Amino acid sequence: MRAFRITEWGRPPQVAEVPRPSAGPGQVLVRVAGCGLCHTDVTLPHMPAAVGERLGWQLPFTLGHEIAGWVAESRVPGFAEGDAVAVVTQNSCGRCWHCLHGLDSSCPNALAGRGYGRDGGLAPYVVVSGERSLIRLDSLDPVTAGPLTDAGATAYHAVRRVLPRVYPGGTVAVIGVGGLGSFAVQFLGLLTGCRVVAVDTNPLRLKVAAELGAHDTAESLGRLGADAVLDFVGTDDTIAAGLRALRAGGSYGLIGAAGGKLAGPWFGALPKDGEVFTFQGSSVADLHDVIALAGSLRNDVRRFPFDDIEDAYARLVAGSLDGGRGLIVF
Ligand code: NAD
Ligand code: ZN
Repeated sequence: MRAFRITEWGRPPQVAEVPRPSAGPGQVLVRVAGCGLCHTDVTLPHMPAAVGERLGWQLPFTLGHEIAGWVAESRVPGFAEGDAVAVVTQNSCGRCWHCLHGLDSSCPNALAGRGYGRDGGLAPYVVVSGERSLIRLDSLDPVTAGPLTDAGATAYHAVRRVLPRVYPGGTVAVIGVGGLGSFAVQFLGLLTGCRVVAVDTNPLRLKVAAELGAHDTAESLGRLGADAVLDFVGTDDTIAAGLRALRAGGSYGLIGAAGGKLAGPWFGALPKDGEVFTFQGSSVADLHDVIALAGSLRNDVRRFPFDDIEDAYARLVAGSLDGGRGLIVF
């Protein structure tokens, strides 16, 4: 089968021929229906090799961590051939202290997973270990469910994290209303009574954010006195603007991986009596919640065949996906 793989650090990923895998004990082989394209995929090949080694990543590996499809072979009780499933992005162990406390995304045994250090879903088949990593889809279409597993679940995790600081009549700003941010706008609408301000440099994304429920849209952020700011970009500028936009007691979440620095004196730079947090990914429970909410979400995708995968990533980088998550369909 053909797979889209990172073969060498610092080199662009490429299409390569690999043998079709099969399910070992305790595993399921999933026939991929659709795999979403995340902005993180674009940065992974340029990670320093030493970081990859520290994380225990094994090259080459197949990219793609937003996966849904059908069970093709099952050696996991309760899952049978033909079942439609979403694949949990996190590869958490379920046994460590962090997992037991619902912090799957901090599981020290999950530094590598499908699409980041191990073979992921940008291929017709992917192997998934354990029942914990599979969620049955019932009425949801596996062709388009993939983006819920990361863009959806990560945005949900961010929104859930700020809920205790968000009040009805308050304001939350979402910086970067692309794949993740456009889900965050929707979760804020579903779970809070706050005013949502969408910030993006791309006018098309702002138009979509307004359709998804953002009350205001802007190309830059002013002094809002916001309850919370969720930053899905993460440059020096968005970090500084995001912190400036908070009220005292507000919460700033850094989710975007642009690599900006949070700098400044303790007095003035950080929200008084507030909080600053970051995280990677989501919990298994987050994805269960997102799938339960899926009927109330708009999950816009732009479909591409596998042959057009490089074009699809180029459009993601250029911001010309016409307002939807890029999705490779098999
Ligand atoms: P995306 O490209 O779909 O969306 C990014 C959006 O930000 C785009 O709409 C773009 O126009 C906008 N943008 C870019 N620069 C901006 C700026 N200076 N000000 C305002 N808006 C700006 O990307 P995505 O897949 O949604 O990912 C967003 C970020 O989140 C990426 O950095 C990605 O690596 C990161 N990410 C983090 C996690 C995590 O767990 N922390 C998980 C997945 C993705
Ligand atoms: Zn764990």
